[in-house]
Amino acid sequence: PVALVWFRNDLRLADNPALRAALEAGYAPVPVYIHAPDEHGSWRPGAASDAWRHRALAALDADLRKRGSHLRHFFGPSLATLQSLVLAMGARAVFWNRRYEPYIERRDTRIKQALRRMGVRAESHNSALLFEPWTLRTKQGGPFKVFTPFWRAALADWRDAACWPAPASLPDVAEGPEGVPLAALKLAPALDWDASFWPHWTPGEGGAQAALDTFVEGALRGYAQQRDRPDRVGTSRLSPHLHFGEIAPWRAVAALQAERNAGNAGDVDAAIRELGWREFAHHLLHHFPDTPEQNFNPRFNDFAWARLSPLKLEAWQQGRTGVPIVDAGLRELWATGWMHNRVRMIVASYLTKHLRYHWRHGARWFWDTLVDADLANNTLGWQWVAGTGADAAPYFRIFNPVTQAEKFDPDGAYIARWLPELAPLPLPLRFAPWQDPARLRRVAPDYPPQPLVDLAAGRDAALQAYRGRDS
Ligand code: FAD
Repeated sequence: PVALVWFRNDLRLADNPALRAALEAGYAPVPVYIHAPDEHGSWRPGAASDAWRHRALAALDADLRKRGSHLRHFFGPSLATLQSLVLAMGARAVFWNRRYEPYIERRDTRIKQALRRMGVRAESHNSALLFEPWTLRTKQGGPFKVFTPFWRAALADWRDAACWPAPASLPDVAEGPEGVPLAALKLAPALDWDASFWPHWTPGEGGAQAALDTFVEGALRGYAQQRDRPDRVGTSRLSPHLHFGEIAPWRAVAALQAERNAGNAGDVDAAIRELGWREFAHHLLHHFPDTPEQNFNPRFNDFAWARLSPLKLEAWQQGRTGVPIVDAGLRELWATGWMHNRVRMIVASYLTKHLRYHWRHGARWFWDTLVDADLANNTLGWQWVAGTGADAAPYFRIFNPVTQAEKFDPDGAYIARWLPELAPLPLPLRFAPWQDPARLRRVAPDYPPQPLVDLAAGRDAALQAYRGRDS
């Protein structure tokens, strides 16, 4: 008998619980992908995300073909497409792996019910998380709102999950609708603005495993210290691979755990703890489904955000704020689809505090430009920095971008890499070039001569708005 295996954000063959369940139940799996961007509520996938997905789907298809199968692509709506495929192929079952975005969760529940009403076995599995959002509870039985107790509960409940390889071969099901070619989904950009991404990334399961291997053999040593240094390759760069499910988080954990004996337990713990933040973000998104739009902390609902100037927002987006570390980060994002975590915090702080714009404006920009755009992690990240989040930095803690640059990019190498026009400036001028306007003009005539907002004035205005919040 035939079963559909509906691929979504689980674009891998190893450690794939839905695929495994279909095989173990004796079905011939038919891998399908359904393009239905209208089913994501107001969080239709962004352009960078689509560009990645195009390549990840191509990689998945190539991996399936090596095993005798292949991926069939269809246009949504998802339910109608699954129903017509079930009927056309006489499929008895549909297997998939769960997602946790509120809109998708609701949609998937409806789909499961509708398929079951047709007499089809509809089954979902966990491919994405170490702890699904409902498995960890506070002593009172509610969801966690603070990371430390969440993570403590996770560690107390820890079980090392087994990894399993991709099936060596898969049945070739010839009958039934073939759908449309991948290119017809138009996920790849029409103009190749993404060309500069790909020297940095290899989407797909092979690329994900290679990134994990590279990390474990390299940057893991010293991770606990180096992870804050954007001028080094100090982190795993696994985020897009994890988002698209090209690798199981438990496989990453297993590879890290295996290094524990090599004398770097501190680094291993630090790396696993970061994966813990990803778990926490998914926990929060599931239990507080309004938070992609709404402040987690309602005390910020009447906060005096500044009136948006589209020109200033655009200057921030394009890396023309006049503050080098901020601009370097936004240019790294534009060029590679990714930004270092420390710099994400700096640019987000600049937007929400110095410019005093609502964090939603930043979250939207990241959503469209990040290859790892992830509703759970992005929402947590922005609300954390803005100070509106669950377990957040207090609003009054305002990053000074110059001090941050001095501390985390001490040689100015990150700035020089992404703003080569500033490379001729010596340190510390490269961190704050407005301090010598004549020299800046000579060296980089096109770089903004002054920051978009004076750092001290922006900070004072933000603090004033914060203090006025309750009055
Ligand atoms: P590593 O340091 O190697 O960490 C390993 C993995 O742990 C990451 O791949 C990621 O899955 C997870 N992780 C690490 N840090 C965090 C964190 N703070 N929160 C949640 N998970 C984390 N991450 C995304 O995946 N998608 C986003 O859309 C996203 N938006 C963000 C927005 C802001 C404003 C901020 C401050 C952070 C955001 N992050 C987001 C979190 C973090 O910046 C990235 O996960 C990290 O930079 C990815 O690089 P890496 O894989 O090399 O991380």
